[in-house]
Amino acid sequence: MRRISLVPKLLIAALALGLTACATQPARNPIATFVKSPNVDDRKAQLIVVHYTEQGSVDESLQTLSDAKAAHPVSAHYLLGKDGHIYQLVPDGLRAWQAGAGRWGTMTELNSASIGIEIDNNGSEPFTEPQVQALLTLLGDLTTRLHIPKGNVIGHQDLAPTRKIDPGPLFPWKRLADAGYGQWPQGELVDPPAGFDGWMAMRVVGYDIRDRAAALRAFRMHYRARDDGKDLAPEFQPEDLKILYALTRPGS
Ligand SMILES: [Zn+2]
Repeated sequence: MRRISLVPKLLIAALALGLTACATQPARNPIATFVKSPNVDDRKAQLIVVHYTEQGSVDESLQTLSDAKAAHPVSAHYLLGKDGHIYQLVPDGLRAWQAGAGRWGTMTELNSASIGIEIDNNGSEPFTEPQVQALLTLLGDLTTRLHIPKGNVIGHQDLAPTRKIDPGPLFPWKRLADAGYGQWPQGELVDPPAGFDGWMAMRVVGYDIRDRAAALRAFRMHYRARDDGKDLAPEFQPEDLKILYALTRPGS
């Protein structure tokens, strides 16, 4: 504190102005002649990724998500407390460090492509009703304001099945789907026709199937509310195939 008081106030003001300018003005490339076009807008996320914090309290997670000195610094755009309070840690237009390495469909740079929502949950407890309500409110806001398609809501486990198991089998995907968010099989589940390729369907849904056991585990956590663990044999059960067919059949 004492050291800061010795720095001339003007310098502090200039630094503050500089920082503000950096945050709001895109850099102009010095090797090019800048001819300003008005026909621009912000780069926008295309996907929303849901996580659980796997921590004991919202205060602990606020600390973790804003710790620049951590061995592996992480962040998220939003954090939902158990009481439904919505915290924002990163502006929507910036890239939070939340998804990490992964793949969803053709997307491979997920931190750039997504908005990350952490939910205060230790990984083995139900999500609270206020959290679900807050999440639905936030999804409504984000999909409307940022024009993210309502179906583009996935879990961290879905994009990084070999590394992540959040938000896990207790996450209420069906409730989200009933409100119009994410993907969910519609109509009565029926057996797929002969020749139906379940792994191709997994890819169409978005999963990276290079590790088939991991992808199938993530799929079952999402669509069947079950976690069969990492030693799962990568073989479909009839229920898996019915869901995959419902998700990918023409008109779904
Ligand atoms: Zn996560």
